[in-house]
Amino acid sequence: MRLLLAGIVHETNTFAEKRTDLDEFEASGFYRGEELLDLAGTNTVIGGAVDTVRELGIELIPVVATSAIPGGLVTDRAFERVVTAIEAALAREKPDAIVLDLHGAMVTESHDDGDGAVLERVRAAAGPGLPIIATLDLHANVGPQMLANATALIPFDTYPHIDNAERGDEAVRLAARATAGEVRPVMASRKLPVLPDGPRQFSGAEPTRSIMRLVHAVEKRPGVLTAGVCFAFPWADCPFPGMTVTVVTDGDSELAATYANEIGDYIWSRHTEFRTDLWRVEEAIHEAMTTEGGPVVLADLGDNPGGGTAADGTSILWGLMDLGADGAVVSTICDPEVVALAFEAGEGANIETMLGAKTDERHGYPIPIKATVKRLSNGDFVYDGPMDRGVHDTLGRTAVLGVQGRYGHVVDVIVCERRVQSLDTAILRSQGIEPADCKIIALKSAVHFRGAFMPIAAKILEVDTPGLTSLDYSRFPYERLPRPIWPMDDI
Ligand SMILES: [Zn+2]
Repeated sequence: MRLLLAGIVHETNTFAEKRTDLDEFEASGFYRGEELLDLAGTNTVIGGAVDTVRELGIELIPVVATSAIPGGLVTDRAFERVVTAIEAALAREKPDAIVLDLHGAMVTESHDDGDGAVLERVRAAAGPGLPIIATLDLHANVGPQMLANATALIPFDTYPHIDNAERGDEAVRLAARATAGEVRPVMASRKLPVLPDGPRQFSGAEPTRSIMRLVHAVEKRPGVLTAGVCFAFPWADCPFPGMTVTVVTDGDSELAATYANEIGDYIWSRHTEFRTDLWRVEEAIHEAMTTEGGPVVLADLGDNPGGGTAADGTSILWGLMDLGADGAVVSTICDPEVVALAFEAGEGANIETMLGAKTDERHGYPIPIKATVKRLSNGDFVYDGPMDRGVHDTLGRTAVLGVQGRYGHVVDVIVCERRVQSLDTAILRSQGIEPADCKIIALKSAVHFRGAFMPIAAKILEVDTPGLTSLDYSRFPYERLPRPIWPMDDI
């Protein structure tokens, strides 16, 4: 058997102003041909797929795999670069099956359903019979083109996403069985007009825990090949958002539809539990300061670059400076100008400047700071928590600043050149900061940080901050979202 493996992963926040072009994909990793094999052993979809291909003795045709940090619309140029490479490989290699690593919430300059457009082009080039198995992020907005052109969709089961390699493995095994004629996958879906709050999508909390328990029970029933739930990405103003259930059975589309509806009905019976009570900034800081021990993690929900934000939001830092919070660290603020200034000044120097909130007007205000440059580095690190373990990444050039607070205290701030979600303790350690020794840690992450930080956190507080991932949807000028949809409408 000959298997073609490829992928393009992007979660598109259509409210972000800056488009996502090839340079953003190159910066996060653009693997071509045999380079895909470098991901073997990592907890990624491609890594899991490569490992299983080797185990099963399948002949691999590795084409291209890339992802970019979530952000604005993907350019046609970046989209075409990947899709034409897959089309060319299909024409040249004539594989028996295809596994694609997709996100499911990509919007491009020309396509509302970027992933659907990828699948449509690949299907057209591959022909109607060829198995095309696509993995999806848990936050996919599943559109009709995706359903029409994929043989099977396999979304992640976990949030934080720690089953990436497992899903890659599952996709390869399903492709192999379909190619051998052992099974004939057919898929059904159920859409729900629900945009659940991120924090309640945490796999360890209700109602997600029970929903996924039902999904796994359905997967064990006779005739079912795989089942999943996409929890949607709310900051994409497109015509098909909302949660989607997918069920794939062996040749029985009626059974697939019955089970998709069963899971959908169960989600609907519990959807109002997907609302989160958030802390106001000053309340959260007060709570953290008066908590015995530590660290207390403050999740900067409005400014999670994992959802396409500017990563330069300042509202929590402002509070930490203003309220006398000792032993606090902010991870991170993306501000290349201030990084450049710190590098010019050098380690140990004092600087005075305006920090953060320079990308747009949605992430707070630039803050006047007086700071000591405590540490300079190239920002390279390797994830070592449960998510993305083994993957290399970089913050870009990075400065740790000791920022003077109003009461003579110092707040440590990791200021960097790239927008990176603070989901791993490795980011802090790479900057010489031991997270367990901190009193307060403010993180730009909504849920993913839980994998690495829950074991050390005394308390986790979800903070209502401004930004492009705010859960207050009234802050966004939606035009194309179909209504009614919960929680914007009371249904
Ligand atoms: Zn996700």
